[in-house]
Amino acid sequence: MPATAYSKTFAQELDLQQLLARLREVALTQVDPKGEVSEAERAWIRRDVICTCCSVDGALVVRAGRNKTGRLVRQGHFRFRSLTGEDAHHRLCEFYGNETGQPTGAEKVRFSSTAGSALTRAVGELVSRGIEREVFTSEQMQAMRRWYFEAKVASRFKVVARPEIFTWLATQARQPSARSADGPPDDLDAFDPAFGDLPTFKWRRAAVDEVTRRDQPVVQRLDGISEASVKTAAKLAAKLDGQDEFDRGALRAEYAAALDLAKFIAIHADLHEPKVPAHRFASVGAPSALLALSALLLFRTGYDRRAARRLFVELQSGPSAQDPRRGNIIGLNPFHDFDAWRAIKLASDLTAETGWSFNRFDDINLAEARLKAAHRTWRAAGRP
Ligand SMILES: [Zn+2]
Repeated sequence: MPATAYSKTFAQELDLQQLLARLREVALTQVDPKGEVSEAERAWIRRDVICTCCSVDGALVVRAGRNKTGRLVRQGHFRFRSLTGEDAHHRLCEFYGNETGQPTGAEKVRFSSTAGSALTRAVGELVSRGIEREVFTSEQMQAMRRWYFEAKVASRFKVVARPEIFTWLATQARQPSARSADGPPDDLDAFDPAFGDLPTFKWRRAAVDEVTRRDQPVVQRLDGISEASVKTAAKLAAKLDGQDEFDRGALRAEYAAALDLAKFIAIHADLHEPKVPAHRFASVGAPSALLALSALLLFRTGYDRRAARRLFVELQSGPSAQDPRRGNIIGLNPFHDFDAWRAIKLASDLTAETGWSFNRFDDINLAEARLKAAHRTWRAAGRP
């Protein structure tokens, strides 16, 4: 039940009262003397108004409800139903199955002047300044939601990750090699059957090197995902097994820009959670409120990093908001659990690929047996 919807005629997002006022102003319909929404108006709205997120049409009007004393008990709003009475929103629309009228999901951030965290309150106050000074408008915020919806629809994957892969990835993410940009170990280290002629040859050590070398291309695909993110991924994937999900990796460049701006704000404006300084953002993620503000500033500047930083400086340096409640809105953090989602996608890809056992102990045993067999075959062939 969105409180606002998009009018094709007025090319604007409006709530029910604003829409009726505009409609009556241009005399498209007659004003009902009792203040009711007339049948003609309902029919017009049904043709004209679409969902601001998924663009489904056929809006139904739900009038404001008042109790006997005249007190407002329900805001007027729009409802989108199919002919058979089911929810007509796209399954990925933020209003699908949602009777609250507010966006749902882990991506939402409540910028409230009464929020529990000092950081969220501070960000909420900055958002209020931004709205007051028209640095960003509700249309731009809506456009950002629309952009996120379209990205969600465009990149999908099925969560099919085997749980042991997360254990394996977490072990790999702990290794320094996963954090460095080093390529795979030099091929010169590869095993040669002739080495087995050394009576003191360390078969076990050679097997470990063999497995490490073989796994290196997979470890590189971690691409900076931290052990903490892999652990979050394991929990999320267990809940969402078999589901069709958004491949957030499609927003990689946007995430890098938002993380960069969030770090700038945390360091230079001292805006961060006390326990999560900027240097920890890469491993544990930046606070949602900061990412939501960064995403908004970047969206507003067309992802121009310098312009987004300047816009932040402009907000931060000006006077405080006259009405800090203006920022009492639900913001969007498109990058919630971003690296954990990258880990889920990687684990799902690896599940689909054959040839990986993800049990390092078994792998080393198998490799040792294989090296010894190669040495025996080579010897039997007369040491060619
Ligand atoms: Zn919708």
